[in-house]
Amino acid sequence: MTHGDDQGLILPPRLAPIQVVIIPIYKSDAEKSLVLETVERVSRELKDGGIRFKVDDREEVTPGFKYNDWEMRGIPLRVEIGPKDVEKKSVALARRDKPGKEGKSFVSQENISGTILEMLTTIQTSLLERATSFRDSHIHEPRDFSELSTVVQDGWALSWWCESKECELKVKEETKASTRCIPVDQESGEGKCIVCGQPAKRKVYFARSY
Ligand SMILES: [Zn+2]
Repeated sequence: MTHGDDQGLILPPRLAPIQVVIIPIYKSDAEKSLVLETVERVSRELKDGGIRFKVDDREEVTPGFKYNDWEMRGIPLRVEIGPKDVEKKSVALARRDKPGKEGKSFVSQENISGTILEMLTTIQTSLLERATSFRDSHIHEPRDFSELSTVVQDGWALSWWCESKECELKVKEETKASTRCIPVDQESGEGKCIVCGQPAKRKVYFARSY
């Protein structure tokens, strides 16, 4: 859920059961045999490189259909190989985390598994950075209860809490947010419960569940 977009799932490469999907593109039988030859060679290299991949050789659907299909399933990287790529000894790469032109590149077939491994690492890092900065930008430390009510509309509130059931309930009833997590790393010291003002030993995250 953290990494998804309107097109569907986006799987981090380390987690993805299939990291790369290869889509052969051809129109005639002559093109087909040329393209599949390259696909086979690239496949062997990816296999040797320990990359989890799949060749989508379905005949009954168009390449465009396959793009959408694998995009929805969150496969981190798409490799397109057509007659022009065979000629130029290149392949086209399309990153799932950057849809459209921005995530598209053409790379040499030479050392293809090395290039793809590097790309997968870049995608992994970029997804983590994006998720972390999204998370951090949505964490707020409200000054009082009314600010907490505002914060939890679309973020997480980190606040002192006296750990009483009453205060937890009041937050839930008045803001629809509940306690989500008590961070392990706590600043030392004491504060005042965001709800009742009584001494509190720990800070907790309040947020709405969905
Ligand atoms: Zn309290």
